[in-house]
Amino acid sequence: MVIVLRHDADARAVAAALQGLGLWTRPLDGGPGPVMVEVQPHSATVAVAAVLAVAGVAQVRTRRSPHPRVDALPNRYLLACAAGVEVEFGGPLPILIAGPCAAESEAQVEATATLVAAAGGRLLRGGAWKPRTSPYSFAGTGSTGLDWLAAAARRHRLGLVTEAVSELQIDAVAALADMIQVGSRNMQNFALLQAVGRTGKAVLLKRGRGATIEEWLMAGEHLLAHGATWVLFCERGVVGLDPHTRNQLDIAAVALLHHTRALPVAIDPSHGCGRRDLVVPLARAGVAAGATAVLVEVHPDPALAQSDGPQALTPPLLTELALALGLPAVEQRLVPKPHYTSRFKDFYQRSVEDRRRTLARHLDLTPETQAWLRTGGLPVEVADRMTENVIGTFGLPLSVALNFRVNGRDHLVPMVVEEPSIVAAASNAARMVRATGGFRGDATASVMTAQVQFDHVADVEHAGVRLRERRAEIQQLANDSIPRMVARGCGCVDVDVRVLDVEAGLLVVHLYVDVGDAMGANVVDTVAEHVAPVVQSWVGGDIGLRILSNLPLRRIVHVECDVGAEFLGGERLADGVARASRFAEVDPFRAATHNKGILNGIDAVAVALGQDWRAIEAGAHAYAGLGSDYGPLSTWTRTATGLHGTMELPLAIGTVGGSTQANPGVRAAMELVCIDGARQLATVMAAAGLATNLAALRALAGEGIQQGHMRLHARKGAVQPAVVVGSGLASVDAAIAGVASAPEDGRNHKGAARDGAA
Ligand code: PEP
Ligand code: MN
Repeated sequence: MVIVLRHDADARAVAAALQGLGLWTRPLDGGPGPVMVEVQPHSATVAVAAVLAVAGVAQVRTRRSPHPRVDALPNRYLLACAAGVEVEFGGPLPILIAGPCAAESEAQVEATATLVAAAGGRLLRGGAWKPRTSPYSFAGTGSTGLDWLAAAARRHRLGLVTEAVSELQIDAVAALADMIQVGSRNMQNFALLQAVGRTGKAVLLKRGRGATIEEWLMAGEHLLAHGATWVLFCERGVVGLDPHTRNQLDIAAVALLHHTRALPVAIDPSHGCGRRDLVVPLARAGVAAGATAVLVEVHPDPALAQSDGPQALTPPLLTELALALGLPAVEQRLVPKPHYTSRFKDFYQRSVEDRRRTLARHLDLTPETQAWLRTGGLPVEVADRMTENVIGTFGLPLSVALNFRVNGRDHLVPMVVEEPSIVAAASNAARMVRATGGFRGDATASVMTAQVQFDHVADVEHAGVRLRERRAEIQQLANDSIPRMVARGCGCVDVDVRVLDVEAGLLVVHLYVDVGDAMGANVVDTVAEHVAPVVQSWVGGDIGLRILSNLPLRRIVHVECDVGAEFLGGERLADGVARASRFAEVDPFRAATHNKGILNGIDAVAVALGQDWRAIEAGAHAYAGLGSDYGPLSTWTRTATGLHGTMELPLAIGTVGGSTQANPGVRAAMELVCIDGARQLATVMAAAGLATNLAALRALAGEGIQQGHMRLHARKGAVQPAVVVGSGLASVDAAIAGVASAPEDGRNHKGAARDGAA
């Protein structure tokens, strides 16, 4: 851009004003005639009208763009793939394009495609012919490799992108690939660009290692001028100064193409840095800068890769990437396997090694989970990213509770807990319940509650009324802050306004947000922070807290079950459990212990699955205290044949997102429990809680807790595991006797609690 100044203009003042717009200028030595300045390419993109508005500017001369077709390229593009799927670029979620550097063998291509599909990848990418710096390096498997790639992509319903390294392969590649890659070294091979363009396909155009952005865009123009339907510009690093990375990934180029040119751009952090340990953070940076797609190399066993092994992601790192990108990934690994069961004969009598082998065989576990079961633990680098001041990792046993059947489906229930007998108790109770069909239950949609506090609101009651009238607007505002959630069919579903203290002008806005399969704390906090200033501009006052409530009353799970008295151990025990339940209903001292027995099960599953168990505890106890008295979350009543148990509580848990899923042990536990999303998981967790609750009451109603504990300790490895759980010293009969001797008004427990504390 050249700017012509008025004859009377103060050149210094104009330069200063242009600088204020973000433009770097340099005077052009024009000799006689008007003064002219040239805008440097590293200036911000500014509208011509804004430059013309600067005092002293007479004229703006812009060069005609040398790449009009690129300039007109749409950001959004629907790629129809031979595998029968459509991939939409430019939508709310980044598109993951992944695969091996080179197709090496049929098995390697198949294994990689499986990983890519499971991670939520949409396109398989691999080289059949490889451009290699050395003539002695492995150069690919050619058309055979191309066939493997095409077949694997179809099997896994993935699109296929692969490179044509010369004009010789274009026909073969165009026949099988959905998108043709032009490699970095070929970016200015104009004959190749023209031939690729003539196929009329979409093209992934890598940036040349030494190419300027203009040269890159011109290469795109070549493709489009010859018939390419769409070009995805792929930043893959340019020649850099420093040997610590293979190339220098140019994040600024990604931002520039996306933000100032609205062009579709992908990021290839694998070639961009050449080392797998930096791929995930750089992919995130690329997406933050505006990349619509992420291209990475992955290998089932990078140590064996024939090209680019050091930069290939391992399978767990690919999962970490998918989670970091927020892809709806893991669910696919949670689909039930054909032989999945929660019943294993004599499981507790086997060796740890044998249990692992049994699960791997019967549950058809992924290689990642099998490998993790062998080694266990948490890599310290992952730990170091999870919390602060990390100095090590900390072990606890991971067990599985057996026999669970929930809504007609088996679930193996992973548990991490330090207390002996909880796992055995859960398994035993689940076996008893299974005899009458198992647990039944359902969870509401995953609706979290966010609170936004305003203080000192003038005429707060009236302000509340006005805000209630604007609920739809608030809901829209909330949704504007979470477009990705909205694109997945989630988002703010309702708004409430509560006036809590008229004198203090204290008003709280509740935002109810369906967070899908996420736990949702971050989502609702984002929404609350976004909504607060706008609402404040309507009602005044001071913004206070903007945070979720750990009492999510619209995220409730309900479970119930029936147990035959004969499976429980007889009518006397059934009576005892019902009496124990009644005790908890009328006494908060007992209700606290009763609920602890429920949380024994729920918390153990929560820890194994990387959930926020503090949030679960807070929600459970707040819910238990909602009525006039703190009460039990579950109740057990006698039926003609035995017992009926029922329970309800809020459970804010998630199966996607959250830094905890970086933990490979959590990913393994997720695969073991085999659930299809957060609502099903909530139901299974609640069933685990009802099971440990039943086991505890049965033990207390029978022989008493200590005896069972002692027996379990004394005969580790014995044939029958004891059915005991929880704490408390007295038998239920003695405890109920305590109630019987209580003051006349047996319901005055708040008073009793105060007396006890005094
Ligand atoms: C590749 O994508 O495998 C490749 C060789 O990349 P680049 O052309 O970016 O070097
Ligand atoms: Mn490569």
